Amino acid sequence: MQVFLAVPEAKAVVHCHPPHATAYAITGRVPPNLIIPEFEVFVGKVAVSPYETPGTKAFAETVVPYVKSHNTVLLSNHGIVCWADTVTHAEWQCEIIDTYCKTYLIAKQIGVEVPNVLKG
Ligand SMILES: [Zn+2]
Repeated sequence: MQVFLAVPEAKAVVHCHPPHATAYAITGRVPPNLIIPEFEVFVGKVAVSPYETPGTKAFAETVVPYVKSHNTVLLSNHGIVCWADTVTHAEWQCEIIDTYCKTYLIAKQIGVEVPNVLKG
């Protein structure tokens, strides 16, 4: 509800707990940018909101500082929330960030530096 109030162009919000993006959320870190173009185009920079008990008004308000400058927020120790003009696009953002986090985590296991080659 806080997203709809703050961002009138947001017509859909998807909240879920995809494991790879949630791994970042529970560590309070965001995945690096400038690795894969699709992530930059559809998600871009993400934020991590501070922890509050899920389901409370305080929890809903944790995303308010980020909603106008982001379309995806990692919810500390919980999951993610994405918003867009349609539910399909919001769901795509969830899929894209989780796949991006999964791919990046696998790439790091190869044991070499993952270069940031895209221009910011
Ligand atoms: Zn949840």
